[in-house]
Amino acid sequence: MIYFDHNATSPLLPQARQAWVEANKQYIGNPSSPHRLGQRADAALTAAREQLARVIGCDAQDLVWTSGATESSNLALHHFAQTLASDAEVWVSAIEHPCVRAPIRHYFSKRHRLIPVGHAGVVELGWLAAELRRRRAGLVAVMAANNETGVVQPWREALALCREHGVPFFCDAVQWVGKLPARGLGDCDFVSGTAHKFGGPKGVGFLKCPAKGRVAPLLLGGPQEDGRRAGTENVAGILSMMTALEVREHELAAAAAEDGGSTNENGASFHSSSSSVSPAAVRLRLAWREQFERGLLAALPGAGIVGASQPRLWNTVSAFMPVADCQQRWVVKLDKLGFAVSTGSACSSGREVPSQVLSAMGYAPAEAGRVLRFSSGWETPEADWDALLAAVKRVHRGESRRSAP
Ligand code: PLP
Repeated sequence: MIYFDHNATSPLLPQARQAWVEANKQYIGNPSSPHRLGQRADAALTAAREQLARVIGCDAQDLVWTSGATESSNLALHHFAQTLASDAEVWVSAIEHPCVRAPIRHYFSKRHRLIPVGHAGVVELGWLAAELRRRRAGLVAVMAANNETGVVQPWREALALCREHGVPFFCDAVQWVGKLPARGLGDCDFVSGTAHKFGGPKGVGFLKCPAKGRVAPLLLGGPQEDGRRAGTENVAGILSMMTALEVREHELAAAAAEDGGSTNENGASFHSSSSSVSPAAVRLRLAWREQFERGLLAALPGAGIVGASQPRLWNTVSAFMPVADCQQRWVVKLDKLGFAVSTGSACSSGREVPSQVLSAMGYAPAEAGRVLRFSSGWETPEADWDALLAAVKRVHRGESRRSAP
């Protein structure tokens, strides 16, 4: 099976598997136990915390280990529900993942506003700037890159606007981390990430949150994580996650070094389609993806690329396909040919519900229903993109014959 659903989850890297096995052998103690085996596990967690702090650029004390990004965003939003004034509003981009949208609806049902996005899928900074001048939000949440379209969001600019107005800023960086350099994300007040999107194990992630000014815990029942998240830490999962992240960051740094080393600090250069700035390894992958997109557009009448005019993650293609009676047919037919793809975010896959992301971008349900998502990984070779294009053409020929009178 050829896997084109890395935005849903990515396979465990061999190095991360090895780190998990080793950690289970070496760190058998509970990090909260006072004996030496417990202390050894605790020291491993401290080292991992320092490692992540170096990668994203924050204080090690600002990091809380969680079970993944859904828990991280729930923890952050629960904290704001407990601590914001009763009339304070939360402003959130209209294209956030359900794990951000749902807690906001839950805690701030009548006290949230959606930050609009344009037709190309980018958050409207002009709206945010103008509204922040008018009144003060209690929290602004803008994701780093969208999971369905791959469109990169101006989170640095949104953060700068929030800083100017003294408003806390939360960034769901799940799709960014491991694909683009994570450095600088630590500047945001709150950041969520999850291991299984970059080659780490499922069920482990982190929340960056200010150590000063207590975070109101969601899980109660233990002193772990400095009282911010009760429950025994997943030591092996955390060490495995950090191994995967180091592998990805190393790839990104090596790619930048090949190109003269000037781009590591600047995430923008990594997703640009301009060949003069993208580091070689990323540029190569962009070229394979663009070749696939060109082939798709040439072969399939009515096909289009969502967010084509915008910088997008180098691994993601969100494409309008020719009309089929049910989009799920594409997924099933490609599956039969040996390709795993998605109709949208993993959470809405399997249900023919129009994507909220696409409707926020102004697409009608009929158009949104034509979208398929293809998302590659670091290890996906050019040949897999070529094979995917051939398979898509084959399914299209079959569908055209079916619908011919
Ligand atoms: N945020 C984004 C942008 C995602 O794509 C996902 C997963 O699909 C999540 C959050 C949730 O992550 P987790 O599976 O770790 O709960």
